[in-house]
Amino acid sequence: MDSLTSTSTAADAGSISRIEQARRSSSEPELTEGYQEWRSRFAAERLRVLYYLGLVANPVFIAADVLLYREHLHTLLVIRTILELGLLVCFLFLVRAVALVRPNVLLVLWVLIGNLCISQMTIELGGFPSQYVNGLSLVFLAAAVIVPVSWRSHLVAQLVILLYYYGANSLHALTPAEVNAAIGNSFFLVWTCVALLFSVSMYERLQRAEFQARLSERHAREELETSHRKLLELDRLKSEFFANISHELRTPLTLSLGAFKTLLKLAPTSLGEQVIQSGLRNTSRLLFHINELLDLAKFDSGRAELRKSCIDLATLVRSVAANFESSRKSRIHVKGLSQPVAIEADPHQMKKVLYNLLSNAFKFSDPDEGQVWIRVNGKEGTVELEVEDNGIGIPGDQLDRIFDRFTQVEGSATRQYEGSGIGLALVKEIVTLHGGIIAVESALGRGSTFTITMPRGKANPDNIVALEDEEMVTIPRHRETDGERPQAVASSPSIGNLPLVLAVDDNADMRDYLNQVLRQRYRIASASDGAEGLKQARALRPDLILTDVMMPRMSGYDLLKAVRADGTLRSIPVIFLTARAGADAHVESLEAGADDYIAKPFDENELLARVGNLIRARAQERELIELQKEKIARFLPPHLAEMIISGERDDFLKGHRTEISVLFIDLRGFSAFAETAEPEELMTVLRQYQTEMGRLISEYHGTLERFAGDSMMVFFNDPIPVPNHAEQAVRMAIAMRDRMNELRAQWNNRGIDLGAGIGISAGYATLGVIGFEGRKDYAAIGPVTNLAARLCSEAQHGQILVSGRFLQLVEALVCAEPVGNLTLKGFHQPVPAYTVTGLRN
Ligand code: ADP
Repeated sequence: MDSLTSTSTAADAGSISRIEQARRSSSEPELTEGYQEWRSRFAAERLRVLYYLGLVANPVFIAADVLLYREHLHTLLVIRTILELGLLVCFLFLVRAVALVRPNVLLVLWVLIGNLCISQMTIELGGFPSQYVNGLSLVFLAAAVIVPVSWRSHLVAQLVILLYYYGANSLHALTPAEVNAAIGNSFFLVWTCVALLFSVSMYERLQRAEFQARLSERHAREELETSHRKLLELDRLKSEFFANISHELRTPLTLSLGAFKTLLKLAPTSLGEQVIQSGLRNTSRLLFHINELLDLAKFDSGRAELRKSCIDLATLVRSVAANFESSRKSRIHVKGLSQPVAIEADPHQMKKVLYNLLSNAFKFSDPDEGQVWIRVNGKEGTVELEVEDNGIGIPGDQLDRIFDRFTQVEGSATRQYEGSGIGLALVKEIVTLHGGIIAVESALGRGSTFTITMPRGKANPDNIVALEDEEMVTIPRHRETDGERPQAVASSPSIGNLPLVLAVDDNADMRDYLNQVLRQRYRIASASDGAEGLKQARALRPDLILTDVMMPRMSGYDLLKAVRADGTLRSIPVIFLTARAGADAHVESLEAGADDYIAKPFDENELLARVGNLIRARAQERELIELQKEKIARFLPPHLAEMIISGERDDFLKGHRTEISVLFIDLRGFSAFAETAEPEELMTVLRQYQTEMGRLISEYHGTLERFAGDSMMVFFNDPIPVPNHAEQAVRMAIAMRDRMNELRAQWNNRGIDLGAGIGISAGYATLGVIGFEGRKDYAAIGPVTNLAARLCSEAQHGQILVSGRFLQLVEALVCAEPVGNLTLKGFHQPVPAYTVTGLRN
């Protein structure tokens, strides 16, 4: 392998690149051609070594001639001279005119010249028994080891030599000793040749495989280097672009800021001032972010410079912190600022550092409860600046990442906060450029502490310079951030029953803007985050909710989820208003269940049109529901109708087991009356009885399960839960009895003899919808209904018969007397029954 490594480094780079081109095109013949070319160069280099060796070894072996065969010295010297000259001529070709003779030929020639001469010497020195036969093996060995390529060339040379050696030495009659020697020699010679050919061929295969591997490796490395170069270039272009575009943006923004400031001085109306302030705040905000990008670009290009001077860090901290102080309550606590703290630093950059840390501390803390502590601690040679908050904190596994660019902590809590992920990256760059370090400690849910340790430099308290009175570009705060809460419902110019829109956004300017756009057509309520939005929605039941997505405390997604989960709010249309543009965001919003989605910046008319469409659709839907309710209510109690339409308790339709009270009432003497009465009279009496009983059923929250001519079955506790169902049932039964007494008196006056008996029981039953697609019924299955029906059929007019179990439930409320054990249809054993006489006092 070493041989390959050393040769390949020497190989011609042009040839390698051609070979690689061939490999990239993945064509086998081209790869072979490349390999052959590379192998020829390898062979040529190795041949030089072989020839040097031959040229040196040949004269050295004269010593052996002198020692062993002094009497043949003359002939041997002649042969050695021919050998030397032959090698020399070939060597000159190798060195001077390698292009004319192929390396394979020179290899064969080297073996032939060497071994033909050695064979000739053996003839001179006694034929087969001569020890110089070992010279042949030596030459074969040297050629195969030093130039281990082209086993075919080695084979040709070996065959020629073996033929010549055996042919030339066999020309005279051989003695038995010579024959033995010839046989012995051939064993060693032939096996040496075979072994060498095998090893050369193996070596060649190995070389070829390694050649390929090295090519792939080099190719991969080159590709990597190319893409690395491209990425670096792209990064440079991106930074340059950022720098250029940011510069271009700064000029118009600065001019806009100037224009807003001038406008403010022109004493505008209060609404005008509000609008201008909003413009001023948001233009400053944009300028702040652009400056951040510009700063990053400067760091990237290595153009960031510090303008250091000896400053008082305490004064600097106070001036930056003043930006965050609320006019209403102080949330910043400082320590270590009473004495000047001298440090050599760039004041402008240090303000940025502190501003970023403080704005994060406020952003990631509760708007009401959040507190921030700033501590400055001057030490020998260094100064420590600590900013601590009691906000949401950062998960331990993400602490390392937050200083990376464009990185925000993953997880639902922080993704609700707006931000670019640039601030801390910039802070770290600035601190590092000052030779300082920044560290962070945090506990999730409890808060974070950022600590900066900076070298004091050459600063000392005597040469502190006053801070320049420069205006710092910051993100200005809205009056609400100073503690003023938004109005629950903003007054609308046109009083009346306008639809109510709830606007939820943590950006106060955005809320103001929405208010301005929508107030001509709607009443507006606003909330500054999802949690407050939900509270408002529950209190005000708006006609539409317009909500931002990323908000602290509760995001727009969570607000939507809560609205959809609340039966009373479920049908309110929700529009997402978000800064995330693109199809993905749109699909996500709709999938989450929002009715519509509007990307910021939006067109006012588009907003009005979308809000209008949804509100109209909602109004139509409401009308439809009212209509349905009205229709259903003709057949069902109103509360049940409402429940069915709202879909509030879809589960009640499914089979379930509940304890209920069942009341059965039917008329006594009805069959006799029906036989003799006119149909109209019959219907009048029946309607009067049903109307009166129906009114009582509604009043006592019963559910009329069945009307069958003169009988009615009423459930308590399902589908509408009634906590004291037995009590309600018995109270209703007494009210029914009283009312029936009145009706009976009226009917008696008209000659009609009708009364009513009531049976009540309580117990568990399986309730739900039974029937088939075309006709369904809501039913209770269990002995409790049968028992009530049977008790009812046993009851005389004015009698309320109840089961023992039912009586246990209402014992404290009513007076009852036993009527003995009744034998009822469907019951194997007599059932003890009681008659309720009235309520206890
Ligand atoms: P931005 O605030 O614009 O998102 P920063 O680079 O300033 O970007 O901060 C990166 C991230 O680090 C933030 O998005 C937030 O997740 C986390 N972070 C920074 N400061 C705090 C803090 N005081 N409390 C909690 N999380 C923080």
